[in-house]
Formats: sequence, structure tokens, C-alpha cells
Amino acid sequence: MKESIRKTLVFDLKDLRHEDFKQYEALVSSETLGLIFEEAEFVNPLSCTILLLRQGGDNICVTADITSVISAECRRCVITFEIDVATTLDLFFSLKDESSEEDETDERYYDGETLDISEDVRQAVMLEVPMWPLCSETCEGLCPQCGTELNAGVCGCEIEDEVPIPASNPLSAQLESIFSKADLSKKLKNS
Ligand SMILES: [Zn+2]
Ligand SMILES: [Zn+2]
Repeated sequence: MKESIRKTLVFDLKDLRHEDFKQYEALVSSETLGLIFEEAEFVNPLSCTILLLRQGGDNICVTADITSVISAECRRCVITFEIDVATTLDLFFSLKDESSEEDETDERYYDGETLDISEDVRQAVMLEVPMWPLCSETCEGLCPQCGTELNAGVCGCEIEDEVPIPASNPLSAQLESIFSKADLSKKLKNS
């Protein structure tokens, strides 16, 4: 029987009682998982293929393949573009019993009935969202003077320095004179 597409990442292990493995398809909204970003948003829900594999009695291996698409604004040229996200997760759960110690960090436990991988998926997908989205590594960005998108062509502005300080700025003129005085006094001391 073909499984219907699920909307959660919580699995009822009754399904696995008489089988060694089971595969699920899930479409989970990013909001459900708390994947909300200022700089980017998910265009599609997360599409997940999850394989639960019984191993050595009560241990369960989980493999989850997750894909989605994010829309983000390029930090250099401010166009909105899409990023394909794809990540794979491998987890191993053992049945929680009296002797299980919760604080062993790598070991994961489940209660024998349900298995929830929402938090694992959330963390794995978080890592795939770029902190500094760029439409391309070589994006030229915008002209700081006229705002022309430089990927499309040059604008003709002459940009001389990395950080141009207009000479008419009274503060920078003041600073300049202070610095040149300091320079002068240093030179006098050194001579
Ligand atoms: Zn760009
Ligand atoms: Zn320009």
C-alpha cells in the first residue's frame, strides 16, 4: 500500500512493528519547524524522504533527505533570487530503558512508540541557509554613486578610492588637518 504524504516528522513506530524498514514521504512547512528568517524565506515546504530502519532489535537508524527552495535578497545587488537547499541527515536511536543516561550527548533515545526528528531537521536545514546570500560569488553589486546594477553593465562613474571622502566635508577636512599636524610633530620628534 502506498503511504500518503505526511505533514509531520513524528513517526508512529507501530508501523515498523512487523517490518524491518519503512519509507515515508513528508511535506512539512518551514513555519511548523520554526524556520523563519529575516533575510530569506522558503518558497516551498520542505520535501522529506525518510527511511526508518530497524537495526539489532530495538535500535532504529533514520536517514532523511530534505530538499526545498529559499528565496533571498543578494547582499550586493539586492535582486531576489532562489537557492536550492538539500541536506541529508543520519540519526541513530536506541530504546530508552532504566539504564539509559539522558546526558550522554551523542546517544539518542526514543520511548518505543514515537520518534520525532523535527528538531534534527530544523537544525540541519538552518545550516543550509546562507548568512550572507549572494546571487553569485562574482556579483558586482551596485555602483555606490549612481546605483546602476554593475552585473548588467558599467555606468561610467569614476570611482577612485575604496572609501571616497568628499573634500567639502568639514569634518573630514578637520580630521585631515589634525592628522597632518600629528604627522608633522612625529616627524619633528624623530629628526
Ligand atoms: Zn547579486
Ligand atoms: Zn555609477
